[in-house]
Amino acid sequence: MKTPARGSLLSIEHLPTRDINAILKLARRMKPAHPQPLLRGKRVALLFYETSTRTRASFEVAAKSLGAITVLIQTSGSSIEKGESLLDTGYTLSAIGADVIVLRHPNSGAPNLLAQHLDIPVINAGDGMHEHPSQALLDAYTILRHKKKIAGLQVAIIGDIFHSRVARSNIHLLSKLGAKMTLCGPPELVPELATTLVPGLKLARHVEDAVRGADVVMLLRVQKERLAGLKLHAFDYIARYQMTPARLRLAKRDAILMHPGPAIRGMELEGDLADAPQSVIREEVRNGVPVRMAILARAVRKAR
Ligand code: ASP
Repeated sequence: MKTPARGSLLSIEHLPTRDINAILKLARRMKPAHPQPLLRGKRVALLFYETSTRTRASFEVAAKSLGAITVLIQTSGSSIEKGESLLDTGYTLSAIGADVIVLRHPNSGAPNLLAQHLDIPVINAGDGMHEHPSQALLDAYTILRHKKKIAGLQVAIIGDIFHSRVARSNIHLLSKLGAKMTLCGPPELVPELATTLVPGLKLARHVEDAVRGADVVMLLRVQKERLAGLKLHAFDYIARYQMTPARLRLAKRDAILMHPGPAIRGMELEGDLADAPQSVIREEVRNGVPVRMAILARAVRKAR
């Protein structure tokens, strides 16, 4: 087993705060509309074992905006369908000259495993219930476009926190940058144990308590099938936790509303709220491109 190549991005939990700040600073210099050939001649392999819209598209646009060649490998239509293992697929991509692998996988820890066997940087694009580091970085970038700093902000995180890799990465990142967070949702999806993830996390059982005075309201996806599996009713979730204009009014007047997507209108939030002035949901998607440009540029620069 090897030490992951320099420039790998496997988690936020183990990423030093100075690296978080460096990526955010670099992202501010990235100009998606003006191609910069920082990755000219480089090959970025996008290895996706799970569905993705935003993450895959924005890593691809980011890589191409930097002049790289991209290769997309998805479960269907590749030898993964024939049973080839993750490691063998990784060795294959490395043998055809990939300089970086961006991996999404349903198993927590899959990017770490790959990184421990290859000489090239591996970027975690979401692994099971573990982490989604690039999402947390683009969320921080988005928050910083609206607020002067993250330290001291009140952030309400509402929804299925237990199953959410976005929540885990955001909690680690926002905690490292000094935000105060309150988690909220049904006990089955937001167990008491979740508050032990980082020091100072609070828990609210009533969504009104979580939102009151918040600077940032971050919603997470809630899957109907998961609720059904836990014998919870969707209408109960909606009645107790769904974000509505009335509930959002309890937050600070300049609060922003976030969601990593895919947002299910009518479930996590009332129909039109995603389009409300406070919503930065589409901005999060847009910001994914410069942030992922920065992540890829850092990966290639550090790997040299
Ligand atoms: N798109 C995010 C992820 O892949 C959030 C979600 O799917 O709930 O983790």
